[in-house]
Amino acid sequence: MKKLLALVLTGVLGVSVLTACGSSSSAPSAAAETASTEAAAASTETASASGSALDKDTLIIGTNAAFPPFEYAGDDGTPAGFDIDLINAIGEKLGKKVEVKDMEFDSLVASIGNKIDIAIAGMTVTEERQKMVDFSDPYYEAVQNVIVVNGSEIASADDLKNKKIGVQLGTTGDFIASDIEGSEVSQYNKAVDAVNDLLNGRVDCVIIDANPAQEFVSQHAEELTALEGTQFGFETENYAIAMPKGDAALVEAVNQALKELKEDGTFDKLVAENITGE
Ligand code: GLN
Repeated sequence: MKKLLALVLTGVLGVSVLTACGSSSSAPSAAAETASTEAAAASTETASASGSALDKDTLIIGTNAAFPPFEYAGDDGTPAGFDIDLINAIGEKLGKKVEVKDMEFDSLVASIGNKIDIAIAGMTVTEERQKMVDFSDPYYEAVQNVIVVNGSEIASADDLKNKKIGVQLGTTGDFIASDIEGSEVSQYNKAVDAVNDLLNGRVDCVIIDANPAQEFVSQHAEELTALEGTQFGFETENYAIAMPKGDAALVEAVNQALKELKEDGTFDKLVAENITGE
C-alpha cells in the first residue's frame, strides 16, 4: 500500500514536472524539488490522520535558524527573528503555547504533521510544496539575490551559465540554480557556508533570498555585493506558514490571527523591528 501510494504520488509529480517546465524558465524548478517532496510524500502517509493540530495546547513549530533576519540563533542560542516573533504572536492569538524547534530547512516540509505542527522559515509557496502541505495566506514578498565578489563580471542571466553556484540545500535558490544551463551547484545546509565558500573562491556566486543576502553582505561589505534578482529575470516569491495538508481548521485560525495582527498594527511593528530596522 505504501509503495503504491508512493508510485501514484511519483506519477502525479512526474506530470507536474512536465507542465512546470513548459510554463516558465525562471520559476523554481519543479524537477529539482521532486526528490525532497517524494521523501515528504512517504512521511505524510505516516502522519496521524486524527483531528486538527488546534486540539493541542502546545504547537510545535519547525524553523531553520540560519536565515536572518527571519530566523537566526538569538543571544541565548534559541531561534529569534521576524518569523519567531510572528509565530509567537499568532500562538498568543490562538491561545496556544508555541515551542520552536531548529531543524535543517530541507527536512521541514517532510516533518509537518509528524515531528512538527507548523513550519515558519521564510518558506516560499511553491506548487511542489503545496502538494505536501497547506500554506497560510502569504505574509512577505521576496526575490532571490545573487551575491558576488566586488568586481565580478556576473551581471545578467547569461553570465550565470556554466558557473559554480552556492545555494542552501532544498531552497528556491537551489531550484533556480539547478535549472541554469551548465551550472555546477554546491548545496550547503547553512547559507553562511555558501557565502564563506564565495569568499574563499570555491564558488562564483551565491543565490539566496534578498533579505538574508543583504545581511550576509553587510558583514563583508568590502568584499561582497548582493545583486537584485530582477536583473536576472527571477520571479518574486511569497513566504507563507506551512501546515499539515488538510488541516483546514488550523489554516483558517492561523489566517484569521495573521489578519488581526495586520489590522492591529502588530505585523508592521514586527517588520520594522526585525527587517526594515526602523
Ligand atoms: N525562501 C526560500 C525557500 O523557501 C529559502 C528559505 C530558507 O532558506 N529558509 O526555499
